[in-house]
Amino acid sequence: MSTGAPGYKVEAAGAPAKRAHMFVTHLECSQTGEHYPAGQLHNLSRAGKPLLVRYDLERVRAALTRQVIADRAPTMWKWRELLPMPEGVEPVSLGEPVTPLLSLPGTAARAGAKGLLVKDEGRLPTGSFKARGMAVAVIMARHLGVERIAIPTNGNAGAAIAAYAARAGIASLVICPAETPEINVRETAAYGAKVLVADGQIDECGALVGKGAAEGRWFDCSTLKEPYRLEGKKVMGLELVEQLGWRVPDAIFYPTGGGTGLIGMWKAFDELEALGLTGPKRPRMYAVQAAGCAPIVRAFDRGEEFAERWEGAATVATGIRVPKAVGDFLILRAVRDSGGAALEVDEQSILQAVNEVACDDGTLLCPEGGAVVAAWRQALERGLVGAYEQVVLFNCANGNKYPLADRARRISLAVAEPNQL
Ligand SMILES: *Cc1c(COP(=O)(O)O)cnc(C)c1O
Repeated sequence: MSTGAPGYKVEAAGAPAKRAHMFVTHLECSQTGEHYPAGQLHNLSRAGKPLLVRYDLERVRAALTRQVIADRAPTMWKWRELLPMPEGVEPVSLGEPVTPLLSLPGTAARAGAKGLLVKDEGRLPTGSFKARGMAVAVIMARHLGVERIAIPTNGNAGAAIAAYAARAGIASLVICPAETPEINVRETAAYGAKVLVADGQIDECGALVGKGAAEGRWFDCSTLKEPYRLEGKKVMGLELVEQLGWRVPDAIFYPTGGGTGLIGMWKAFDELEALGLTGPKRPRMYAVQAAGCAPIVRAFDRGEEFAERWEGAATVATGIRVPKAVGDFLILRAVRDSGGAALEVDEQSILQAVNEVACDDGTLLCPEGGAVVAAWRQALERGLVGAYEQVVLFNCANGNKYPLADRARRISLAVAEPNQL
């Protein structure tokens, strides 16, 4: 794409909306409830808050029964009626499986609990659950006329948007902080994205993305600043409930950066209840952050509705190194309404948890996944969760994407004897 070309075509005022959706009725401001038409490009609402997609759930109810869902192929697209693509607009797919819900018996036993489950999102394309959101956002953006899409990222979102943009035939621009893991930066560039490494935090990179979007250079696909990534992430909650036999667990531990997954799952549970697929029970939601970047935990502890920016953010769990989240009030509301909590864990307990789960259960978590294990242990000790409760942790990326400690011993084959190994 030639530089300087507008990132997307702005439709003339009064132009007919794009093809109608079978089930989407409108979008709604998450703060004021103001309605916005579907079938047009949107970023934040006029109040500067995220927009939520609303569906005609009565009509979905007739189309989407437990049996219909069970009979469909095991991919994230089995929830088609609860996703925003209009009829005839097919997903840009890289093969998005239903991710496994694994038990971690060794980890549970070490902590004295009866059981523990992890939903392993590292099995998705590009090795993280960012694929879920980007698959939906990219296809919707292309459908609505976008030719160039941009985001700030700490790593995984960049790789995912670059891969889906390549597949969809649109251009992508990714701006990341200097501390972004090298492997993410290189992977993103490998998909042909333009990658810029910047001397600031993710929200500061986001400000530059926003500036270019305001000038019409590209479409801003930042976390919660467009409405459709949330819908893709929501599928985690839908899948989980089906996997548990149409029940919600007692508690969910979620590594919280921008909070899309937590907010999305909370929305999914409401939709499932409205569809008559589940009852009124909700899991307690635990938002997990690193002590080196814990704006949501601080706001939760202070009883505040919004979270102040966290200065000097630093943690090995880069996916949750988000000093300021535009959906802060939605995260805090879901956590409070659920009876859960926001918890922080230190760096050492994150790394220790990754090592222990790998040895105890043969499961390599990403650092953010290590953070949720550490938070769950803390919650057990503090009596926030019981040893007999059904708890689901989210591991949102493949552990192989992160630098690992080198624990191998060097030997010389000329002198090595088996009895000395
Ligand atoms: C992005 C990311 C998170 C945070 O996800 P949000 O839903 O934006 O809060 C957690 N873990 C990993 C591995 C990530 O890439």
